[in-house]
Amino acid sequence: MKVFIETFGCQVNEYDSERILYYLEKEGYKETKIIEKSDIIILNTCTIRENANNKLYGHIGNLKKLKEKTPGLLICIGGCTAQSLKEKLIYDFPIIDIVFGTHNISELPELIKRKNLEKKSICSVPKEGFDYDLDKFIRTSSFRASIPVTIGCNNFCSYCIVPYVRGKEISIEPAKIVRSIKKLIADGVIEITLLGQNVNSYGQDLNSSIDFAGLLDEVSDITGLRRLKFMTSHPKDFSPKIINTIKNKKNIGNHIHLPIQSGSNKILKVMNRKYSREDYLKTINLIRKEIPDCSITTDIIVGFPGESKEDFQETIDIIKKIRFNRAFTFIYSPRNGTKASMLKDSTPQYIKKKFFSELLETQNKISAETNKEFIDKKFEVVVECKSTKKASFLRGRLANNTLVNFNGPDLLYGKIVTVKIIGSMNFFLLGEIVK
Ligand code: SAM
Ligand code: SF4
Repeated sequence: MKVFIETFGCQVNEYDSERILYYLEKEGYKETKIIEKSDIIILNTCTIRENANNKLYGHIGNLKKLKEKTPGLLICIGGCTAQSLKEKLIYDFPIIDIVFGTHNISELPELIKRKNLEKKSICSVPKEGFDYDLDKFIRTSSFRASIPVTIGCNNFCSYCIVPYVRGKEISIEPAKIVRSIKKLIADGVIEITLLGQNVNSYGQDLNSSIDFAGLLDEVSDITGLRRLKFMTSHPKDFSPKIINTIKNKKNIGNHIHLPIQSGSNKILKVMNRKYSREDYLKTINLIRKEIPDCSITTDIIVGFPGESKEDFQETIDIIKKIRFNRAFTFIYSPRNGTKASMLKDSTPQYIKKKFFSELLETQNKISAETNKEFIDKKFEVVVECKSTKKASFLRGRLANNTLVNFNGPDLLYGKIVTVKIIGSMNFFLLGEIVK
């Protein structure tokens, strides 16, 4: 039996897909990358913005023909859209066989058996639960892996659906994280990413004094771990202690993803972000003072309800001041059930699009300029995969997370090479291997 898994959205979903594969392989399923050859199709979905849902609907619609052609083919929908829409998905798309949630991935084999017996569509989406076992996932890469350190989120930013679909924040005990990473390293992994919606609040629910800086410190000491990354950081919990740990540990990447969302204090307050632009600037100044070569990336939302031209200009002003290496920019998308979705939103969509273009143009120029600063310098690069830019090229990442493309043989996948930067674009660098 063959399973085809398609993952939408963030790194947490990618990790969850590796868990889905674990539970199905245990039952004898093998993964296929060819959808037409599969007996089960799993769509692991994202619902962070409405366009993620729209993409999914298009996708499910396209599966109708395949389902008609392939007797016995099961279509299963998991992830955040499943957690949010539940039975409605089956109602809208009767071709769906199983809807499962984000808290019961380990239950999937049982649901498949039930479906095959009962012959009717099943929806099993518990409101909460914790079925994570850090050793139960099938790695898709031989040399890198992501490990969740917190599940869920307690922050309830007013625009965000994540706390509703992922549940309350739970930290995984440090001993379990360390044990699992040691196993991965013994198995050839050199790069680990610690995952959480707000990694900086790690440990607050644990019966111990450990915090995220303490966890970073402990994990970075594991012998054989060449590169340690983490995401996402929330500005309200980003402490000088974390900055100090990153500064003092050689294997922790000099990259911090610190979503600012807006440069306007008025909007930050309504977003329930719990920091001001002044607090944010203070954190950036401290990072730059302690780790001068640290790359800083961010997320920004434009068109939030009530965002005026002046508020938007404050965002433009702060990105010009900070000069992020890269920003992930989004137009606000109302999500059912969130506080922001109930706010009056009188800004026309064409104005939001205008804001968005201005933001993109401003940040792209800054990204191009910050990337130019790497030219002629040499960096250690983890070789990740084939480049999409040119057939003979490979793609890798600097410790500061910037992408670089360079000529080299496939046998370098998963190796660390020294690359000299010889050119730059907005979102990646060009280099040549020197060692
Ligand atoms: N936990 C992270 C944080 O606090 O920044 C990120 C979570 S979310 C997966 C990634 C990004 O999506 C957010 O930083 C935000 O910029 C964006 N986002 C979340 N909800 C959104 C919405 N309703 N509309 C537009 N963008 C949204
Ligand atoms: Fe969403 Fe805010 Fe939690 Fe990030 S911190 S997942 S933006 S509620």
